[in-house]
Amino acid sequence: MSKLYFIVGSQDLYGEECLAQVARDAAEMTEFLNGALSGDVTVELLPTVIDSKTCIADCRTANNDDECCGVITWMHTFSPAKMWIKGLQELQKPLLHLHTQANERLPYDTIDMDFMNLNQSAHGDREYGFILARMGIRHEVAAGYYRNPSVIARIRRFADVAKAMAYGKDLKVAAFGNNMREVAVTDGDRVESQIRYGWEVNYYGIGDLTDEIEKVTEDEIDAQMAEYEASYTMATSRIDAVREQAKYELGLKRFIEKNEIGAFTDTFQDLHGLRQLPGLAVQDLMAQGIGFGPEGDYKIAAFSAVLMKMAEGRQGATGFIEDYTYDLTEGEELELASHMLEVPPSFAASRPKIEVHPLGIGGKEDPARLVFDGVTGEGIQVTMVDMGTHFRMICADIELVKQPQEMPNLPVARIMYRHKPDFATGTVEWCYAGGAHHSVVSTALTREDIALFAELTGTELIVIG
Ligand code: MN
Repeated sequence: MSKLYFIVGSQDLYGEECLAQVARDAAEMTEFLNGALSGDVTVELLPTVIDSKTCIADCRTANNDDECCGVITWMHTFSPAKMWIKGLQELQKPLLHLHTQANERLPYDTIDMDFMNLNQSAHGDREYGFILARMGIRHEVAAGYYRNPSVIARIRRFADVAKAMAYGKDLKVAAFGNNMREVAVTDGDRVESQIRYGWEVNYYGIGDLTDEIEKVTEDEIDAQMAEYEASYTMATSRIDAVREQAKYELGLKRFIEKNEIGAFTDTFQDLHGLRQLPGLAVQDLMAQGIGFGPEGDYKIAAFSAVLMKMAEGRQGATGFIEDYTYDLTEGEELELASHMLEVPPSFAASRPKIEVHPLGIGGKEDPARLVFDGVTGEGIQVTMVDMGTHFRMICADIELVKQPQEMPNLPVARIMYRHKPDFATGTVEWCYAGGAHHSVVSTALTREDIALFAELTGTELIVIG
């Protein structure tokens, strides 16, 4: 499990007794935070910062611990901020400034100068906040009594975002083939992606993948078919087409494991050695947390993997989708979002069906795919585009709704949603912002999660809703 380090600031001006109390309070807070955040992240206390040397040592401990995804800091007493400069300069992990106190209520009857010197985060946290602002260090601030549910919720959000960022730092993305010919928005600066988010995006020839696929045995395909039948309803008699996808999935899995890949792209324009466009195979891999981007869209492949990681353990669905077509009935406008095949089954409102239909693009054999109607509920749609000088994220509020009528001839999975605050505003702003037709839709994540990710990664964010 991921870990947050807790670093408490003080100084030696107040004597040993005061520092001993600081350490006791910090230990009690750490214990409480561990309980409150259990299942999500663990919290470990580092030595109290009393000078520049202890601060540097603490920050280096956080940097050098691969399990550590972020750092929480809090000033119990005043902790002169020049002591923090050199440590913070080295700190490479996401930072949460917890603006709190060990005590909730003031002890009005007994408060004296000793108490006030010991419990002065209103003073010390401002000194600390100044140096973070002065140094331009990206961070989150959570304010309030540390046991309050709203403060815990904010720390938990920080932990989820920090975990997703750490996941991104380790993420390898395989691009099978290149970006779809002539398409602009799916392309981007892979070097900048790695500098900013850590995503290692590398090209592989489709032949490297088909080599793995060719090694798959009939027994392995039988086992994969049994897994499909356990999760999905077989609604086709064309079993050979389904077995073909099972073979692709097993080959992809082997390739992914061998190369430690967390997300991948393919393109229907480069499928040499494959008889079908991977459909069911990709859908089932997305269900296992693997990021995917079609048409060579490496950004959405990586971003969807990162956001699935951020949403881990929460209720709701998160995954890749493509804007497709509208119902423009005035005042009741709806969008139908889908893809050629590759809609993640996390969006399924009920048990998905495996079907085989022709694909009118790419000139390949009829591919097997999962078909289902989408989940409902409040959600967000978020995408990332490369503006040439920087990446931009666009996050729009949406409401996923039940499709108004059956669509018996539509051979792909789909979701439907309403734009907020209304169709015109939502879509006009998306167009002005240069939002892509590929995005991640989530009913588990909120605009605040995305805003924090944008803040901590230094990414431009436009919100619509
Ligand atoms: Mn597409």
